[in-house]
Amino acid sequence: MTGLIERYRDRLPFAAEDPVVTLGEGSTPLVHAPALSQRAGAEVWCKLEGLNPTGSFKDRGMTCAVSAAVREGARAIVCASTGNTAASAAAYAARAGIRCAVIVPDGKIATGKLAQALMHGARVIALRGNFDLALALVRELAASHPIALVNSVNEFRIEGQKTSSFEIAEALDAELDALCIPVGNAGNITAYWRGFDELGQRPRMLGFQAAGAAPLVLGAPVQAPETVASAIRIGNPARWEDAMNAMTASGGEIRAVTDEQILAAYRLLASTEGIFCEPASAASVAGLLVHGAGDAQRVACVLTGHGLKDPQTALGEAGAVVSCEPDRAAVERAVLG
Ligand SMILES: *Cc1c(COP(=O)(O)O)cnc(C)c1O
Repeated sequence: MTGLIERYRDRLPFAAEDPVVTLGEGSTPLVHAPALSQRAGAEVWCKLEGLNPTGSFKDRGMTCAVSAAVREGARAIVCASTGNTAASAAAYAARAGIRCAVIVPDGKIATGKLAQALMHGARVIALRGNFDLALALVRELAASHPIALVNSVNEFRIEGQKTSSFEIAEALDAELDALCIPVGNAGNITAYWRGFDELGQRPRMLGFQAAGAAPLVLGAPVQAPETVASAIRIGNPARWEDAMNAMTASGGEIRAVTDEQILAAYRLLASTEGIFCEPASAASVAGLLVHGAGDAQRVACVLTGHGLKDPQTALGEAGAVVSCEPDRAAVERAVLG
């Protein structure tokens, strides 16, 4: 499988001779979701972005951001992260042989993401503050040092991430009517809209924020964002204007879903569709089920990250393990009971 720069080079800002740092990202499955379709009264598809190399869509942006950084001669990259950007940046930096530092909110990132960033050899800095503060600090740092900033304020991130729209359009026989997507820093909704816009398609962009971290819904930054969906625990999105533009231009909406609704969708996906995503990803499905998609016939939900990223939340939501004595009768009772 080729990476997305090679696959879509004619639509990305890379020339044939440019260095490419890739882990074979993109080309993720678009899976029909029969149980969701029935509940939503529409044809629902799930874009499984958790099947990217590091387990989230961030890899699409990262292959472009890190390739561009290498092209410019950067020796190091830096980002603020709720977890997945850190895991992705760390992996692509390792691949490129350059240094990586990530700043994460202390104690607020999922276990799998922390393990990834550390394993890939990044310097992981736990900030006693939230994501918004971390981003403000790395922006200052990158402005005064020769370090490439790989958050989604970096245009190459958006360019890479727009390719998911191309893949969705290629996979479907007819055009999409609506796209449901979780919104945190709002880079991804910006990217999807750009991708569809470049294709001349106009699906309604339905963005969903967690109720405790819903600045775009409230129309004002949230000082202390709080939600179980740690990947979208963001109070002041860097791509605020772009997200509002995607919403308005596509005739879409940005709405809130509660943690309870997010977790219900999270369990439903796992138990009825066989799809294990992380809580933030389930916000797209929660939004579809709670708010609907108007008269849309064909809907895609972006499942942004893999469920294995956050085993702690999963174990807290799932049923209990059945313990068993090692004899046949006990096993029989345990299995059939
Ligand atoms: C980063 C992330 C988001 C939010 O994407 P933005 O571009 O910040 O809006 C949603 N879900 C997951 C799993 C993420 O890692």
